[in-house]
Amino acid sequence: MKKIRIKQAQIPVELFSTMGCRTQNGADINAANSYQMNIQSVIETGHLYDNYVSAAQKDGRGNICPVTIILPTIAMRCLKTFDKGNGYKDTKEGKRDLADYFLRTLNNKIHDAKDMLIERFEYICSQDASSAKFMYENGLMAGYVPEEGIRSALKHGTLAIGQIGLAETLQILIGCDHTTEEGMELAKQIEQLFKDRCAEFKEEYKLNFGVYMTPAENLCYTSMQKFQAKYGKIPNISDREYFTNSMHVPVWKEVSPFEKIDIESQLTGYSSAGCITYIELDGAVLQNLEALQTIVNYAMDKDIPYFAINIPNDLCLDCGYTGLIGEDKCPMCGGQDIQRLRRVTGYLTGDYKTAFNPGKQAEVLDRVKHTMKI
Ligand SMILES: [Zn+2]
Repeated sequence: MKKIRIKQAQIPVELFSTMGCRTQNGADINAANSYQMNIQSVIETGHLYDNYVSAAQKDGRGNICPVTIILPTIAMRCLKTFDKGNGYKDTKEGKRDLADYFLRTLNNKIHDAKDMLIERFEYICSQDASSAKFMYENGLMAGYVPEEGIRSALKHGTLAIGQIGLAETLQILIGCDHTTEEGMELAKQIEQLFKDRCAEFKEEYKLNFGVYMTPAENLCYTSMQKFQAKYGKIPNISDREYFTNSMHVPVWKEVSPFEKIDIESQLTGYSSAGCITYIELDGAVLQNLEALQTIVNYAMDKDIPYFAINIPNDLCLDCGYTGLIGEDKCPMCGGQDIQRLRRVTGYLTGDYKTAFNPGKQAEVLDRVKHTMKI
């Protein structure tokens, strides 16, 4: 049995495994009592056994169902309501009133999301184990007790309350995003609301509600389409084809890797159901491993739960040339059969130009290389 040394601060609730897309499982409120006792001994000794973690907490669980709240739409509705009824004034006090109104409205929406998740969870649990026989019989979902039905396994999974477009939401409410101090202050209030409600729901319903920084591969585009149809194209809010992913720094902001980590690491801690922080580098970093290591260490020091570095990896299917192929033809052989491998959300995608909708493709093209400001 391999023994690994970990910091006490990292155990037990902060240990998790992620899916490639970023989904993670936080502490399991339905973990067996024996497991809770083991956790206590782990805390006392400061040691953890890796197979123990994988057997008891990490594996055999998953994201059961997510609901994502489209934050900018709620913010815009709040603004319109203020405009019509309450005489919204574009002053510091006016913005504060609007932000407060938004937070109250969001609170209601988080409750709605909870109700939707419970309804879906109950529906899923009403199925017979024979609907996924292989999964239950082979322990892929841990904890299954035949006499108790599939709820016995699914209760260890996560009910995720997700979000999209924090940056645009802040623009609507106060005219700046969380790359500013003022924006970050409100961003933290919004994330705290998600966190508090999920913690309360978790206790009340004994189900693993968690704050989720949604990947939104399709929603980033479809939600924007609906927003534009209703409110038109508004600078810094809806003048692109997609909403910014979860609480990310907008992809077009020219920030260094360190600045991006500094900003997002202030918000990743609010999430218990999964988040990702990535930076975009160009292929040159492959010649500078020291720089790569510095960036990774910086992210680890800032407690980024899941960190990714995106490096374009294009492959000429004619001659095998690999690297960034900017034009539509290979710089080596002129071939035009190019496969463009990208980490667009969490996992690597074969060719983002065919795998994603126009909104997500536009977002990928807008991404600045954070190397520009190292
Ligand atoms: Zn080639």
